[in-house]
Amino acid sequence: MHEALNSPSEYSALVGATIYVSPTEDPIRDGVVLIRGEKIVAVGNRAQMQFPETAHILDCFGLTIAAGLWNSHVHFFERKWANVADIPASELTRQLQDALTRFGFTSVFDTGSLWENTRQLRDRIESGEVPGPKIRSTGPGLFPPGALPSDQVLSLMGLMKFPAPEIADAAQAADAAKRLLDQGVDGIKLFASSPRSAPLPESAFQAAADEAHRAGKPVFVHPNTAADVLTAVRGGVDIIAHTTPHSGPWDDTLLATMKDHRIALTPTLTLWKYYMRHDRLSAQEKITNTEVTQLRAWAAAGGTVLFGTDLGAVEYDPSEEYSLMAEAGMNFRQILASLTTAPAERFGEADKLGRIAAGLQADLVVLNQDPSRNIRALTSVQYTLRAGKIIYRAIK
Ligand SMILES: [Zn+2]
Repeated sequence: MHEALNSPSEYSALVGATIYVSPTEDPIRDGVVLIRGEKIVAVGNRAQMQFPETAHILDCFGLTIAAGLWNSHVHFFERKWANVADIPASELTRQLQDALTRFGFTSVFDTGSLWENTRQLRDRIESGEVPGPKIRSTGPGLFPPGALPSDQVLSLMGLMKFPAPEIADAAQAADAAKRLLDQGVDGIKLFASSPRSAPLPESAFQAAADEAHRAGKPVFVHPNTAADVLTAVRGGVDIIAHTTPHSGPWDDTLLATMKDHRIALTPTLTLWKYYMRHDRLSAQEKITNTEVTQLRAWAAAGGTVLFGTDLGAVEYDPSEEYSLMAEAGMNFRQILASLTTAPAERFGEADKLGRIAAGLQADLVVLNQDPSRNIRALTSVQYTLRAGKIIYRAIK
């Protein structure tokens, strides 16, 4: 089950890998990461590192190590997670591997699910019963009237049915946000518009954001159009949960406003491509091209990108998302930042997570290939470690 590399007082050493300690520093070749208990004690070149003879050695020659990865847009709303307290530990472990840990994810932000259920899933992971990532969650989103898909659609999509607050104005937004925050959620998520009602006004975003920010929590928005993005940004949201390829390219005013407000974006490029899969090829290409262009403009403007796939609504393998981000002009270091330092900073964990350095938590991904040469190598995971424990190991 949980494979402790070491007891709290013992050392273990991951030896021989190329180590990307952060997205901005040169990698260490033939390196060593020394771990004690949950933490990194030291990292450096093997020739210059001394470590206790009693340390457990994990042979990492020929492998590549980076900090544990974040997926900042997931949902634990598929039927497989329902009544999570009743799922046997072995099955739950396999489900978490299948969706997350086999791809190196050690931290995730769930932006829409049944809060009580997701909290129980988190509890089972944090108690040590099942190996899995650190979960943060907004609980259910706040929806303008008519935006929630019908039960029939939810069922076809394989999703759980769960209540989500409907809001139309500032007072309702503040009220619903406060109620969720009182229940302990880690952030607030709002849907900006609905085919069956007026879009949420800026004041509604502002009211929800005021409540969340007072509690020190971030606010996410699901926009459908560029106009939704602008309203939400002006209303004080922190994270744009999607690009909006159905509304055309993002213009300079929008990009500048996002930049001024220090917004972060989870591009979810695979999602829109996936939803278009039944359409004409030319229509698919148009959407993909537009979303890639939106991300390219945002990244070129120096905007913050948080890797995020909308996992649960799309397939689990993130290879294509990595490829599409590269197509948008993001280089390996920028993509690595979106998976590590950027979310750690945005979610207030930079002193603990996101880099490989002495004193930080030992959340690590060990890869079979170097992703600086081929970005899809980010999915060729040999080991995933969280807090010094191996939570996933590929069978060779
Ligand atoms: Zn989503």
